[in-house]
Amino acid sequence: MSTSPCLKHRCSKCCIETEMPLTKRDIQRIENLGFKEEDFVRYVDGIPVLKTKEDGSCVFLEDGKCKIYKYRPDGCRLYPLVWVKGIERATLDPHCPYRYEFRFTHKDVEKLAELVKEIYHHEGSGVTTKIRKTGGAKRG
Ligand code: SF4
Repeated sequence: MSTSPCLKHRCSKCCIETEMPLTKRDIQRIENLGFKEEDFVRYVDGIPVLKTKEDGSCVFLEDGKCKIYKYRPDGCRLYPLVWVKGIERATLDPHCPYRYEFRFTHKDVEKLAELVKEIYHHEGSGVTTKIRKTGGAKRG
């Protein structure tokens, strides 16, 4: 089994200053672990996104690792594949330094388009699935 770029490079930059949107299923899955919604969800323009700590990192990032990795949001799983406003299609987030080491399939792109539709309630909607202020790669 190949090592993900995130693990290979020990990178968790994408979990820092993240505004990862969440689906209802993401929220339910994480609540099932025993977390309360108010512990990990905040709303930006009515859209639920992962909460961050004072330093801007995701509430679930601990010692450079995702403590809910197996249950992480779908957007985290697909990153650095993102949906970009204006282009209205999937692309690789240029902020991720290891983006070209990831392999995505057409199914991943379809999944991303479905997430965009589900979260923003309309098709290819002028959003990215990973809105970020600083860049980096997702941990695999
Ligand atoms: S992978 Fe985990 S730590 Fe990183 S943004 Fe997603 S939930 Fe947070």
